Parts: sequence; C-alpha cells; structure tokens
Amino acid sequence: MITPLPRLDQARLRSILRDRDPTRPLVLTNACLPNSVIGEALSGDRSSLVSKVIIEVVQGQFHRIEKDNTPTTSEDEAKDFVDLEGRMILPRLVDCHTHLDKGHILPRTPMANGTFGTALSTVKADREASWNADDVRQRMEFGLKSAFHHGTGAIRTHLDSHPGQLEISWPVLEALRNEWAGRIDLQAAALIPIEMVGNTEHFDRLCSVVAKADGALGAVAYPCDSLVSHVEQLFVAAKDRGLRLDFHADETLDPGARALEVIADATLRHGYGDRVLVGHCCSLAQLSPPDAARIIGKCAEGGLSVVSLPMCNLYLQDRQDPARTPRLRGVTALKELAHAGVNTAVASDNTRDPFFAYGDLDMLETFREATRILQLDHPHGDWISAATHRAARAMGLAGHGRLDVGGSADCIIFEGRAWHEVLSRPESNRIVLKAGRPNETTLPDYRELDPLVK
Ligand SMILES: [Zn+2]
Repeated sequence: MITPLPRLDQARLRSILRDRDPTRPLVLTNACLPNSVIGEALSGDRSSLVSKVIIEVVQGQFHRIEKDNTPTTSEDEAKDFVDLEGRMILPRLVDCHTHLDKGHILPRTPMANGTFGTALSTVKADREASWNADDVRQRMEFGLKSAFHHGTGAIRTHLDSHPGQLEISWPVLEALRNEWAGRIDLQAAALIPIEMVGNTEHFDRLCSVVAKADGALGAVAYPCDSLVSHVEQLFVAAKDRGLRLDFHADETLDPGARALEVIADATLRHGYGDRVLVGHCCSLAQLSPPDAARIIGKCAEGGLSVVSLPMCNLYLQDRQDPARTPRLRGVTALKELAHAGVNTAVASDNTRDPFFAYGDLDMLETFREATRILQLDHPHGDWISAATHRAARAMGLAGHGRLDVGGSADCIIFEGRAWHEVLSRPESNRIVLKAGRPNETTLPDYRELDPLVK
C-alpha cells in the first residue's frame, strides 16, 4: 500500500512511526546516510553522504539498506512506505569517555572556577563528603536517561576508584548496567591518580573489583618519577586478567608532559594495542613537528585508540587569569593521529561538574562542537565514525555504531538533510528508533536532583 503523504514535519513523522502496525514491514524511502556508517557500504566513496537510500525494517530489524532504485512490486501492498524527504539517518551514537559518577555535582561545588586545579580539589572534597551509593546512583541514572533520550547506544564511564569509593561506585555501576541492558550498553574504567598504583594493597583490590565487573583498568597519567614503572604495572595487571586499559594522559598544554609516549611504548612492548584507549593527549598539539610525528608513529604502530574530549578541553585548557582571553583550543592533534592510521574518537567527558560546567551527554552536541573546535569539515569526510563505529572499536564493542542488515533497527532520524543542516540546530526533535519503534522518552528534569544539593 503506497500512501502519498503531504510534507511531513518531525512530530507527524513520529506519530506515524509510533501508531503504525509493527507487524507490517516498514520501508523508509529517500533517506540520506553517511556511507561509512552502513555495515555493507553502498557504492561510491566510504566518506561520502549517500542520498535516496531505502531502508526496510522487518520485525524490528534492518532487512535491507540500499540505493532507492528498486521498482515497487505487488508485495509492496503489504508494506508501509514513509518518504523521509531527504532526512539524515545515523546509527545510535557511541560515547566512549564519560564521567557519570561526577555528573551534575556543580550546584554543590561553588568554588569551582573552570581551572584544572580547582576542578581536582572541589571534586575531591565533594566525593569525600557526599558520594554514597544513593547519591552516585541518582546522578549516574540522570546521565543515562539524558544520553538515551539523545540517542546514545553505548557509554563508557570512568569511575573514581580511590580507597573507599571503589567499594561504593562499582556495585552501583553493575546494578545500573543490568537495569539498562537493552537500552544502553554500559562499560566502566577505573580512574585513580597514577601514583596510587604504588599502593599495592589498594591496587590489588581495585584489580579484583574491576575484573569481577568486567571493567577496564586505568589511571590519570601525569608527569611523576614513577610514571614509567606504574604504566608498566598497569599493563602487566591488565594482561594477567585479560582486561582493557583506559588512560587519561597529558591533559595539559605543557609540552613536557609525555605520558602518551610512555603508554605507546608500553603498548608496543606488550602487543596490546587493540585493548588500549588513551584520552585527552592535549600536549601532543604543543610539540615540535618531529616530536609529535615520532609519538604519533608509535601510537599507530602500537594500534592503540585515542579519544579527544573537545568540549572539556576547550573549557579547561589555556584558562589562566579570568581577565585574559584564552588563545588555544586545547585539543590534541586528532587529524594527524587519524591520518597516521590511529583509531580516533570524540566523546563527551564531563557533564555539569567542575571539569566541565555544561553538557548533557548528547553526542550530537559533542560531534557538532568537535566539528567546530577541531575543524572536522570541508570535507566532513567520515569523521562521524569518530562518534559511531570508531568509538565502538575503542571500547571493544561489536554491534554498535553501524547500520547492519540483520541487526536491530536502531537509529536516529534527524530533521536536517545534510551536515550543514544537522550541525546547525540542536535537532531536539530528532526521532530515536529502537527496534524500529520511536523512543517516547523525555529529558529528566534538573529538579529531580535538587534533594542531592545540601
Ligand atoms: Zn575524562
């Protein structure tokens, strides 16, 4: 049955998709997709946008994704056709570096002023005063609700894993992961200052907790005398237990910070690259071209992944005197890393906390800001992969970040028809499909968190 439709706005499209008989096949015509997110690429350049794509959904799964050049047949009488009028479709997005446990504490940290030093001290004080299981759980769940509403399908969160906090936050993570299974795939990585690896008793306990929860080991790697030996200890502990590694490295504009190189050397030594993700790496962009090229070469050879956190880095880096305008963007040399063959991603990082006062775990916002801050445009190429399947690869996560025939019909339908439309507006009316049906969620209300502010 082919029903000619008048021009659809998003609200009408949503109601059509919601109210239809789900047992009938759904054929979305005239869609626009980045070729790089289609599991089985359509003809042409992998980095191009493909228009006039037809997407058929049967029993909640993608049945076919192809260029719309197939004539309609008598079988089509039994299908529902919806003309998307050129709308762009993406897979649900993948956020490979977040801090759900720190999220939304900003109302409790009035001393935070956007500097890295106060972010560290105010978060520490708040953690020690308030992060019981109930507090952590409510703020993490708020983040998950927001991310799910915006169309995120997988998240890795770092969890502050200091003595005392380790025992509180990881059980909360495991409970939330079970509750959210089927909506968001949730991973976690341990976060401690690198020198805490030297606290053998705590580090052994941390390794056990992380292994039991199938998490990733990790640390903030900053310049210190024990950097090389502690990075080595982390690799050995991860390999012993078959765990992934996730580092914060060189979150500074000081060109003397070289943790990325230490991690790349260890990755090469251990042959562990497909299990290592490194975040931030801001100082890489401040190095001389030969030094940067040497380190980037080691990253590529070692096979590790690098994630840039553009919103947080723009917010924190090059902030000095409040009266001085920042000059630098703070992000790593992501294009050079990608060009060398390093698996590169972008992610949200912090949300409404002293490390980043804004954000809502909306990966469209992250990708939009990444495009502007890192100039990932002209051409846009396949940079969307940094928020889709390359981010999934960084997490070691199969089945995310692509639209696969035979896979669950999960995707986001935007109003915009090209990058200059999708990345110009918030797209708050985007439709998130899960198994072919629109999510009917709303964003959580900030007032829900008011009781947590004392
Ligand atoms: Zn981070």
